[in-house]
Amino acid sequence: MDGHAPEYLVKLRSIPKESFLFGPSPIQSLPRLSKVLSPDGGVKIYAKRDDCNSGLAYGGNKVRKLEYLVADAKKQGCDTLVSVGGVQSNHTRAVTAVATASGMKAVTVQEKWVPIDPPLYDKTGNILLSRLMGGDVRLNQEGFHIGHKEATKEAMDSVKANGGKPYYVPAGASDHELGGLGFTNFVVELAEQEASMNIFFDTLIVCSVTGSSHAGLIVGAVAEGKGRKIIGIDASGKPVETKAQVSRIARNTAALLDPKLEIPDSAIILDERFHEGIYGIPGPSTIAAMKTAAQTDAVITDPVYEGKSMAGMIQLVKEGAIKPGSNVLYVHLGGQPALNAYSSYFE
Ligand SMILES: *Cc1c(COP(=O)(O)O)cnc(C)c1O
Repeated sequence: MDGHAPEYLVKLRSIPKESFLFGPSPIQSLPRLSKVLSPDGGVKIYAKRDDCNSGLAYGGNKVRKLEYLVADAKKQGCDTLVSVGGVQSNHTRAVTAVATASGMKAVTVQEKWVPIDPPLYDKTGNILLSRLMGGDVRLNQEGFHIGHKEATKEAMDSVKANGGKPYYVPAGASDHELGGLGFTNFVVELAEQEASMNIFFDTLIVCSVTGSSHAGLIVGAVAEGKGRKIIGIDASGKPVETKAQVSRIARNTAALLDPKLEIPDSAIILDERFHEGIYGIPGPSTIAAMKTAAQTDAVITDPVYEGKSMAGMIQLVKEGAIKPGSNVLYVHLGGQPALNAYSSYFE
């Protein structure tokens, strides 16, 4: 487009991607939540609704990332996406959705990553959607460490044995050379929206678990050089590992886009106060935050991811960590289908 576009943008636009999104995901003002958290009107809160980004099985952040991975799978002539996640994984539902909509097959290994078994946990929510789309859902009752590699390898082998050509999508579509691109592109998209809205979001809040949503945002923010701050909220319960993964993905993504693009340590911020000790289980702060968002601006969040990042944003605004005059953007990554499987937490 622009002959003077920076190198990272030229490169980003040259990498093939599928088109799974409606277009730029909407930006919504949250006036009631803003009023509750910042009664003097000093901090204005908005959300970019990546939970409403696509018509493919409710969309969400994984669909944005998978635009790049599916283009790569097609280039390699693959016909089946193979991936792995927990029983109520949004990611495996998204893999099944993009495979289906691309005329490919999906095999998803669903493991016991969360040590709970509430009513209908393996029947409703995300897993129901995958089955409805005709996905080959394989429940693996082995624990995380034992069965993980084995079951996924078996799935890859079974596709090959049936004459198919599998493409492996890592958990969360993160630990992949193209995994960070979707959310680097998110920042480019955001900057265009800001120009037409005449606003600048100085602080972005995002949930972080497998890390590439957070990492992509960091790369986008560092590359554009406007001093935008990205605050990750850990929902993995293993913040040391998560931060290492975010750093690695951010630096690999930056190197892919422009070898001169350096990600300073100071750009990698992960707040560890809101994971409630474990991945996949809401705690009191999670439930309270979900209720606050739902009962102010009718924003629905899930108990695994977005409820935790919502708790983080609420606390950061309340404690004054976000300066008056700020425009804060809550990056809503999706996840609501899992809510059904967690109904017993809301009785
Ligand atoms: C996967 C997921 C996340 C975490 O994103 P990562 O890129 O894996 O860190 C957050 N929210 C929702 C709804 C998700 O499905």
